[in-house]
Amino acid sequence: MEMTTSVYAMTTDDWARAFQERGFSLSGLHFWLDGLYKDSSLWNRHVAPNTLNSLRQDFDFDLPRISKFLKSEDGTVKFQMQFKDQLEVETVLIPFHKRYSICLSTQVGCAMNCSFCYTGTQGLKRHLKAGEIVGQYLKAYEWLLQNEPKALKPNIVFMGQGEPLHNVEEVKKAIEVFNDTKLIGLGRRQMTLSTVGFVPGIAQLKKFPKINLALSLHSPFDHERSHLIPVNLKYPIKDVMQAFDELPYIKSSFMTFEYLMIQDFNMKDDHAVALEALISGRKAVINLIPFNPFPGSEWKRPTETEVEDFRQKLVAKKLRVMVRSTKGDDILAACGQLKIDQQARNYVR
Ligand code: SAH
Repeated sequence: MEMTTSVYAMTTDDWARAFQERGFSLSGLHFWLDGLYKDSSLWNRHVAPNTLNSLRQDFDFDLPRISKFLKSEDGTVKFQMQFKDQLEVETVLIPFHKRYSICLSTQVGCAMNCSFCYTGTQGLKRHLKAGEIVGQYLKAYEWLLQNEPKALKPNIVFMGQGEPLHNVEEVKKAIEVFNDTKLIGLGRRQMTLSTVGFVPGIAQLKKFPKINLALSLHSPFDHERSHLIPVNLKYPIKDVMQAFDELPYIKSSFMTFEYLMIQDFNMKDDHAVALEALISGRKAVINLIPFNPFPGSEWKRPTETEVEDFRQKLVAKKLRVMVRSTKGDDILAACGQLKIDQQARNYVR
């Protein structure tokens, strides 16, 4: 059975078309949109009752339900969001400088099976629909405003559960809604999409609104990278870089290379040399992420000295480097730790 379209999967253009198809006057369109995203009391005053009834019947207004949340000592909040079919994903609200970032999931589970990632151990259950991706943002933001009424509109990172470019059409639609100035209105610098290097999806980015891009690189050597990210066997580093280079705006904007740091594995001199060969000459930032352990993981987190030594090796090669501070690891909300855990403790209401 075909599901009805979510109201949160519709851009202003889609709404204009829906109004026209139904013979509704476009003069009521902005009240309809403001009612949807800001204050639904506008509807009763400004939208004709037959218009309202008809739209209420034709579209799905559901938002995910927050089934649990955990608050970390550092202010990070991890939500468990439940959809109509009872499946759940995690969405993380992360304090970041003066603003929050919301880390969104794009799939229930993930098919990529990366050896260092907790989410991968659960396999792919299903793709999320655009309305479910936007819905996570709206629910997390609503929660934030209840707790901090003055909070600025959060930025987005597509770094939760799932590989966004494996669900490219729905993620694209969600980004169009986030980008739409009459709806959520996030600019290109406020959204970052991270990918394992899923080449068929990278080519599709040409059709997306502009956003920040990040590649989970983790090793400059194919044999090592394939060990960490099995999809690298199909799409090796050279193909991934070529796919990025074919994007029209890649030369004029900074791209992020995420680099997971694993003890005794990918932090040696020859890694720094090969990273220089791969990245120097590009507008790029390397984001170093110390491995976050999870129950049963085979890899080890480096010590702080090892992290600093590797950072210095890259700085010496004139590469731009940042170390990502770990947030929310006390509640398994940090990178790679997102998996619905039935025995989650410390849960606050
Ligand atoms: N599938 C996309 C989006 C997820 S982003 C991607 O892989 O890019 C999540 C980021 O956290 C990725 O850079 C991922 O490599 C990183 N990550 C995964 N597991 C991790 C772990 N255990 N410790 C630290 N970072 C991890």
